[in-house]
Amino acid sequence: MARTVDAVIVGAGFAGLCMLHRLRQQGLGVRVFEAGSGVGGTWFWNRYPGARCDVESLEYSYQFSDELQQEWAWTERYASQAEILRYLNHVADRFDLRRDIALETRVTSAVFDEQANCWQVRTDRGDEVTARFCIMATGCLSAANTPQFPGLASFRGRTFHTGKWPHEPVDFIGERVGVIGTGSSGIQAIPLIAEQAAQLVVFQRTPNFSVPAQNHPLDPAVQRAVKADYGELRHRGSQMPFGFDTRSTERLAVEASAEERLAEYEERWRSGGLPFLGAFADMIFSREANETAAVFIRDKIRQIVRNPAVAEKLMPRGVVGCKRLCSDTNYFETFNRSNVTLVDVNATPIEAITERGIRTSAAHYDLDAIVFATGFDAMTGALSRIDIRGRQGLALRDKWAYGPRTYLGLSTTGFPNFFIMTGPGSPSVLSNMVPSIEQHASWIAACIAHLTAHGARRIEPTQQAEDAWVAHVNEVADTTLYPTCNSWYLGANIPGKPRVFMPYIGGFPVYVQKCNEVMSNGFEGFVIDGAKSTNDAPQVRLTDRWRVPLDIEVISPAAIAARRVPVV
Ligand code: FAD
Ligand code: NAP
Repeated sequence: MARTVDAVIVGAGFAGLCMLHRLRQQGLGVRVFEAGSGVGGTWFWNRYPGARCDVESLEYSYQFSDELQQEWAWTERYASQAEILRYLNHVADRFDLRRDIALETRVTSAVFDEQANCWQVRTDRGDEVTARFCIMATGCLSAANTPQFPGLASFRGRTFHTGKWPHEPVDFIGERVGVIGTGSSGIQAIPLIAEQAAQLVVFQRTPNFSVPAQNHPLDPAVQRAVKADYGELRHRGSQMPFGFDTRSTERLAVEASAEERLAEYEERWRSGGLPFLGAFADMIFSREANETAAVFIRDKIRQIVRNPAVAEKLMPRGVVGCKRLCSDTNYFETFNRSNVTLVDVNATPIEAITERGIRTSAAHYDLDAIVFATGFDAMTGALSRIDIRGRQGLALRDKWAYGPRTYLGLSTTGFPNFFIMTGPGSPSVLSNMVPSIEQHASWIAACIAHLTAHGARRIEPTQQAEDAWVAHVNEVADTTLYPTCNSWYLGANIPGKPRVFMPYIGGFPVYVQKCNEVMSNGFEGFVIDGAKSTNDAPQVRLTDRWRVPLDIEVISPAAIAARRVPVV
């Protein structure tokens, strides 16, 4: 293995694979390190029953190669984990990516050498690689979180985490199973585990809003029609706040009549999935508007769940979309089964895990298996598990001790030639992540091409640009209802984690425009060191950058947010 490469990429999920391909196209020598024994990232690790995407597969897929998007055929509206993993393996083979990927290799440290202007990257297998650029494609939802319940290690049965699911099939037939957690993962897994288990006990701390996915096999005629003009679907998605077609409207819930609202929500409930959030433009700004959607979903839960006491416990009290909206298949229906029990651990907290099961303040539940659907140390967790040191030995962990600080979510002051894909401060987890990943890969590749063409040694954002961007990210978030609940977007699921709203809610189109402007203006906000001519606008030939002609009239909740707080 080469000891010196142009770039090291950490992670081989959607982001790492795409980034590798882009840099290879530019003739760079690249090494990818991946902790898992296969490529695929999220889709390699999250093999729990029911795991599937909640952005339609025709949009939750790469667009960098038209041949790829034409030749791959999705079988369902929302592909299963297995199908997405097959797709990513196909991508790795089709673009001959594997030869540069070291599997089962975890990066433990990345240290910037200021004299040599390069990164020294070390792994748990003893590799030491020197690279000009270090690119973190480590994932926003890849650091699984298992709460440290007292007695956890004493449990005699089997334990699972949805984000680290075994590769061999897991069979719960005839067993008493406990599931802790009712976020997107729990909500997908619970209906299927309930079908197998003799008894299923669901430990719910916060009830969540969920809408039916209305998943179904993809009609080949529909797929053919999309492929006949794929660019149109991609363009439509790129104009939407979340980077996919949510059919977002300009209409305000507070101005619509009760009948109009009901009709809109009913239509979106029937057609299914996350476009429910696009129903009205004020849903994420106005409590009054949001409450109309919340009342609608609560009514649905009341209609579906036969036992009124159970329905009451399942009733979310907060803001729709504040914690990520879930998308399910038969979730609420599952609580009509006689083998399913719902335990409200907000009212009666889990006190301990015992040898035989779970003890709450009210009862003991005997279990053969416990499934932790308890989520992730999101957005910063994978990065903080690596010892990353920039100029003057500054540790990223220390710099981010009070919350992540980035310029555009792509870079951070003090860490030259260091890029983060879909990092905090970018639309990231508030968007269809595949286009967000591709946009970052394109931007980073163009930036590296520019630096190489100009013989530059280093690029790093200025403190001023970073501060302004962080302030903007916070200001935009504060115009919305997002900071009002204890979500993982805020780090609130991890005890002791600073409460900072991490993703950029200004919307995908607004963000892309900003990134393009930064580049067109000669990497405005960055200091480029050692170049023959610094901070020129890159040649168009090199940029090949993501182009989203921003039609500001396409009003979206996020575009409104960004307008209220003009983009810096
Ligand atoms: P990941 O896929 O997380 O890959 C990161 C990789 O980096 C991992 O394989 C990890 O092992 C590796 N890694 C981390 N640290 C190290 C290290 N130190 N050394 C070596 N390797 C390391 N997003 C959507 O937009 N739509 C969806 O429908 C959707 N569904 C999801 C469903 C689930 C169950 C989950 C958990 C997430 C979902 N997401 C969805 C978000 C999803 O994470 C992204 O869409 C996307 O897959 C992220 O790709 P990535 O390459 O950035 O990160
Ligand atoms: P999550 O949304 O963070 O949900 C974790 C659940 O565990 C919550 O219900 C949480 O309760 C509960 N929990 C955590 N710690 C607990 C404790 N100590 N005691 C009791 N309960 C506890 O994690 P996730 O479900 O894995 O989803 C994470 C993200 O991954 C999603 O938001 C989404 O972005 C993505 N995802 C997408 C899909 C999809 O449909 N495509 C599927 C899975 C995941 P509280 O709410 O009270 O904290």
